[in-house]
Amino acid sequence: MFDSLQNRLGSILNGLTGRGALSADDVSAALREVRRALLEADVSLEVVRSFTDRVRTKAVGAEILKSIRPGQMVVKLVHDELVATLGSDHSPIDLNAAAPVTIMMVGLQGSGKTTTSGKLAKRLTEKQRKKVLMASLDTRRPAAQEQLRILGEQTGVATLPIIAGQDPVEIAARAAQAAKLGGYDVLILDTAGRTHIDEPLMAEMAEIKARTKPHEILLVADSLTGQDAVNLARSFDERVGITGIVLTRIDGDGRGGAALSMRAVTGKPIKLIGTGEKMDALEDFHPSRIADRILG
Ligand code: GDP
Repeated sequence: MFDSLQNRLGSILNGLTGRGALSADDVSAALREVRRALLEADVSLEVVRSFTDRVRTKAVGAEILKSIRPGQMVVKLVHDELVATLGSDHSPIDLNAAAPVTIMMVGLQGSGKTTTSGKLAKRLTEKQRKKVLMASLDTRRPAAQEQLRILGEQTGVATLPIIAGQDPVEIAARAAQAAKLGGYDVLILDTAGRTHIDEPLMAEMAEIKARTKPHEILLVADSLTGQDAVNLARSFDERVGITGIVLTRIDGDGRGGAALSMRAVTGKPIKLIGTGEKMDALEDFHPSRIADRILG
């Protein structure tokens, strides 16, 4: 399971069996490999530093158990710390509010917001028997509203009728009204993205938030996001205030280090992962699986 890092640490540490406790030098040598593994998994440098410092504190002086090798022991300490940082418990979407419960999806363009909106709507409809309305507030990308309408048609979820010429805040207000009058349990707002973080985008998100008072604001982010993950998560969290993270494209060949970066800087839970393009490719987040993946 931990083969790669395990093997790398093996050659550094396995000669130590029986020497009692891990010394500061042993741990430093091991942490150089841990640091490399985390960077290869795309964890941001800033997060790697604070993470390895925490592991160092726990590892120095730790007793080497007779039954396991020191290399394995360091991997276990790293794995446990990864799981603790990623959030040990599964954090479900919170629908515990007066209906219609509004869920706002935010993130960069192409991160998977529209796809995830469709997947989440389908899941809430089928598994939790909720009456869901979706609305696209993306007036910039041509055909974005149409894309969501088609997803709604495919999944049997209602979408807000498109009215040309309205701005995102007007559409949001109309969606909130329609959800209320139509007796919907949940309203999913799919917002517009940009290719990069900019102030007008943040201002628009803040305005939509003020207008619709969402119960959940989910940052949708591509799991292949590298060093930018920290900046992305921090900007959205500070400016808009997120309640959770959805990590998409976990089916790709990335190692998912963005999960650790985003969770570490915001403290907000990763709630769901996108595992493919199909409408049922949405799963609960399990910290342990991502921890294994990050360790390689
Ligand atoms: P948006 O601009 O944030 O709304 O992004 P879209 O929802 O349009 O997604 C952009 C592309 O990513 C589309 O081709 C989706 O099919 C694809 N996509 C979204 N989520 C996933 C995922 O979890 N796995 C894979 N493989 N593709 C995804």
